[in-house]
Amino acid sequence: MSGLGKGVTTSSIAKLLQLADQKVSCVKIDPYLNYDAGTMNPVAHGEVFVTNDGGECDMDIGNYERFLNQDIPKSHNITTAQVYSSVISAERKGEYLGACVQIIPHVTDEIKNRIRKIAKDEDLDFLIVECGGTVGDIESLPFLEALRQMRVEEGPQGVIFVHVTLAPSLDVVGEQKTKPTQHSAQELRRIGIQPDFLAVRCTLPLEEKTKNKIAMFTNVTASDVLSCHDVKSIFEVPQILYDQGIMDSIFTKFGKVGMVNASSNWDKWNKIAQNMVNHEDQKIKIAMVGKYVTLADSYVSVNHALKHAGAEIGKSIDIDWIDSESITDYSILSKYNGILVPGGFGVRGSEGIIQTANYARENNIPYLGICFGFQLAAIAFGRNVMKLEDGNSTEIKPDTKNPIVDLLPEQKDISNMGGSLRLGANNIQIKQNTNAQKIYNTETISKRHRHRYEINKQYIAEFEKNGLIFSAESDNGKRMEMLEIPSHKFYLGVQFHPEFNSRPGFPEESFVAFIKAASE
Ligand code: GLN
Repeated sequence: MSGLGKGVTTSSIAKLLQLADQKVSCVKIDPYLNYDAGTMNPVAHGEVFVTNDGGECDMDIGNYERFLNQDIPKSHNITTAQVYSSVISAERKGEYLGACVQIIPHVTDEIKNRIRKIAKDEDLDFLIVECGGTVGDIESLPFLEALRQMRVEEGPQGVIFVHVTLAPSLDVVGEQKTKPTQHSAQELRRIGIQPDFLAVRCTLPLEEKTKNKIAMFTNVTASDVLSCHDVKSIFEVPQILYDQGIMDSIFTKFGKVGMVNASSNWDKWNKIAQNMVNHEDQKIKIAMVGKYVTLADSYVSVNHALKHAGAEIGKSIDIDWIDSESITDYSILSKYNGILVPGGFGVRGSEGIIQTANYARENNIPYLGICFGFQLAAIAFGRNVMKLEDGNSTEIKPDTKNPIVDLLPEQKDISNMGGSLRLGANNIQIKQNTNAQKIYNTETISKRHRHRYEINKQYIAEFEKNGLIFSAESDNGKRMEMLEIPSHKFYLGVQFHPEFNSRPGFPEESFVAFIKAASE
């Protein structure tokens, strides 16, 4: 089922292989019919993760990047729509001339080709493919069938299967139940896949007798039934899998007996992983004010980025999510060390964000505004300091008298919503003698974007006269990328998404600066 931890299991196995000096990457299969995650509501599906090459991907891609400290291209998120689009367009071109085009072999071949192409193009030693959904779902069947075929074609030393299951305990001291795992493994065998490993999610470590019982019913060797019990931080999962002997067993199954783990890699990783959990006593309170606050996963990269930054200065971060649609008493924000407004779209909740940005400015509370949070901070300043009547974004109010934020020129004629924003990494020029320059300590940075609107250049001179400066820009000054208020303790807005570049042990600079300011 969803939320079980397939992404963390996948990332952890990839991490262990990387620590053993193997060249690895991960692929996420999403069996849904959307072409990509771009048009999905983050409250239902979690964050849309943006890759360097402009993919709007499943948030698991973010997990892979953070665990591996490695960029993952958008081709690594395969969906049903992408597969069928390719097959249908090949059929229209006449590439299957004479054939009746079918799920087997045409769709399954397309799936296998995509997976093999990644492994080959990137010259990988191991590719870990995570198949989303639940075994037995109609949607995931063609993918599981393709994976079954790959095992036949590559042989047992070319492909192994890890099945992530659940062993619930019905009360605190209660027995760990094996039935869901038994049935799930049975269902998997029914479609022709015998798992090599079971990664069993449970609250407390899986007991020996439970492992044995599961092994008996599922045909999996007891030592390959792995306990994936709750831990404080997801970065401990590689270690608990390692301690259960997963690496020796993986290498044995692939016929690579005698492969060793590179211990210096481990030392570095352990330091990072430990640093992510260590600072329970030193808390910084951050208010995250946004629209999609009912699901923690909707801003998962922002949450991680805050934690990476906290770990950097030896603090832990306490995040309170505040719904910008229902907030009425802004004075509750005064108890926080910092206020962060993440990305967002549309009218709903936008007034609450504008008020929040204004409250942070007036009360000298460190503020970090990302994308929507950058745009709405400019609007808050325009309305309250520059007295621009009706100041707004044309996304929120198309006929506003003062369009401080307006459509990008190239966006004006676009009618398709999917994949049509300004997406992916672009170079950004930072101005001298600004806080931005202090933060990044360089002239050019490359950051990922996902937006359709931007600061209307017509207002810039007036902003700067009133004490808000735009400290970075892109496309030869065409677009504003950062704003700051030099007289404020810390007031920073960024048009890009710094959260996608933050990794454990390598925190993103603007988050570090924000957390430092919040801790002072
Ligand atoms: N809605 C805004 C835009 O399209 C901001 C997007 C975002 O926050 N990702 O420009």
